[in-house]
Amino acid sequence: MRYLVLSDIHSNLAALQAVLEDAPAGLPIWCLGDIVGYGPNPNECIELLQRYEHECIVGNHDWAVMGKVDVEDFNPDAKHSVEWTQDLLTAASMDYLQQLGLRQEHGPFTLVHGSPRDPIWEYLFRPGSARLSFSELETEHALVGHTHVPCKFTLYQQNGEQYCEMGRLVEGAPQPLDAGRVILNPGSVGQPRDGDVRASYAVLDLDEMTYEHRRVYYDIKRTQELMNKAKLPERNITRLSYGW
Ligand code: ZN
Repeated sequence: MRYLVLSDIHSNLAALQAVLEDAPAGLPIWCLGDIVGYGPNPNECIELLQRYEHECIVGNHDWAVMGKVDVEDFNPDAKHSVEWTQDLLTAASMDYLQQLGLRQEHGPFTLVHGSPRDPIWEYLFRPGSARLSFSELETEHALVGHTHVPCKFTLYQQNGEQYCEMGRLVEGAPQPLDAGRVILNPGSVGQPRDGDVRASYAVLDLDEMTYEHRRVYYDIKRTQELMNKAKLPERNITRLSYGW
């Protein structure tokens, strides 16, 4: 069985549409949270996702929009986006977000937004924090989002000690997952932050145990125009042109 792995859509409908057009047709979706926040189309993104067979967990921005965290913890731009989204969200969209859980397990994979230790907030940027996460995992592997940076952490043993290595993802061909336990991050659909402006996602094959990192261009200008019209923060409009 193959799955489409998406994360951090962040209300960017143009990016989500481009990913769904680019991806192999008919695959069920695993979404790792932060459907909303930052972008101009929160309701449309939730509605589009619901048209597909999918599983989804909650992210920190979804959590914030539901009023479950104090937005004073967010930077001013993120806070503004959360409040703007709250005003715009339909009751149906809010109901959808409310039923999302913190983590799911599917076969050998745990799905969380941040990390297995802290599903909402912890960012896995470094091998050190990823290594600690493996001990919290009840499954062999994990899929995480939240950093908006696609990457792979592999746990391996040497002289009786455990080490964690951060590896690059190769684009354009399925890579075998046969070298130990992994934590995989598909990157962000709607706000990539690895210097590449293209929407980022992955295809996971549980029969072959392969993982394919994929990127696709989307109509960035369309998203930026809608954000401008909505008077969303300038910095979040500009960053889409650079991928930071
Ligand atoms: Zn995010």
